[in-house]
Amino acid sequence: MAYVYDTTNIFARILRGEIPNRTVLETEHALAFRDIAPKAPDHVLVIPKGPYVTYDHFCAEASEAEIVDFTRAVAAVVKLIGAEAHSGAKGFRAITNAGENGVQEVPHFHLHILAGRCIGPMVVTD
Ligand code: AMP
Repeated sequence: MAYVYDTTNIFARILRGEIPNRTVLETEHALAFRDIAPKAPDHVLVIPKGPYVTYDHFCAEASEAEIVDFTRAVAAVVKLIGAEAHSGAKGFRAITNAGENGVQEVPHFHLHILAGRCIGPMVVTD
């Protein structure tokens, strides 16, 4: 079954300029902004401007231009917040949640970039 994109989701509204955001970077096909409820000193969300629900949806259906632009935007954000994993900077964690098991709240693909402290174990096990 195909992905169905909900145009009323909060990130779609941010992209339409209906809701303010703390922009870190904007490119032709991507927007990066600070998470409203940060889980680390630096918590940036990178989203494509296109209507993709999840990461796999984006990977399967985005154009090469969108994929390259998004990927380069991630690198630029990591550099902007000083979170590269070299040259004395301490690195980051990138997370994307998809669907029910991934506990995705906002149905517009987004990559969380968490940095500024040690992020701890990858997942909490039962
Ligand atoms: P996820 O559970 O992966 O879908 O994450 C959704 C994220 O969006 C959460 O970390 C929220 O804090 C964040 N969020 C929700 N609304 C906004 C908003 N208006 N601006 C910035 N971040 C938001």
